[in-house]
Amino acid sequence: MSYFPDSQNQNLHAFAFSHRRSEQMRMNHKPAVIWMTGISASGKSTIADALDIALQEQGRITAIIDGDSVRGGLCRDLGFTDSDRDENIRRVAEVARLMLDAGLVVIVALISPSSASRHYARSIIGNEYFVEVHVDAPLETAEQRDPKGLYKKARAGLIKNFTGIDSNYDVPVFPEVHLNTQALSVAQSVAAILDWVAHNDDRT
Ligand code: ADP
Repeated sequence: MSYFPDSQNQNLHAFAFSHRRSEQMRMNHKPAVIWMTGISASGKSTIADALDIALQEQGRITAIIDGDSVRGGLCRDLGFTDSDRDENIRRVAEVARLMLDAGLVVIVALISPSSASRHYARSIIGNEYFVEVHVDAPLETAEQRDPKGLYKKARAGLIKNFTGIDSNYDVPVFPEVHLNTQALSVAQSVAAILDWVAHNDDRT
């Protein structure tokens, strides 16, 4: 069942993020856009959720832009052709930049399969603020996890243009952070991103 009945896509599942904003304080932290790319079920939403909590515990003001949520609202007119995927990423990058300008640490969890469009997003956001995180899992592992049952549907031909099945995923060549989710726990993945964020604070 889709949580977004108005969307063209009936395979959207809103991730139940653990927003905890009540005790946030504005501190001298550098804003950033943490752009998590990876195939479906690689762990983007799961890690984004834990990362969000960890960043807030450091006193950072955060926001999450999740692919499925965006496709239910801001981008509900878009499908999964290459040009629609590019437009989806463009809109997300523009919104992320607005949030960046407001001083937030923005976590984007989006398959973003094309390296050209990720490059475009980086150019919209600015290299200095863009942290590309490759959330990596082999297709077989993602397919075994399949928490939303989407691979099963794609294999049955019920979903077209599904990344990894009948649509390409360009593996990031030089991401700022590479997470092998077969080897790393969610907590270890979060720690790796936090390391980068701390390092980024120190950059001028
Ligand atoms: P995505 O947002 O990339 O589509 P999800 O976070 O929705 O992926 O789903 C990933 C699934 O894989 C979840 O059910 C999660 O519990 C599971 N999982 C198993 N091991 C890991 C890991 N090491 N890191 C992240 N997710 C993992």
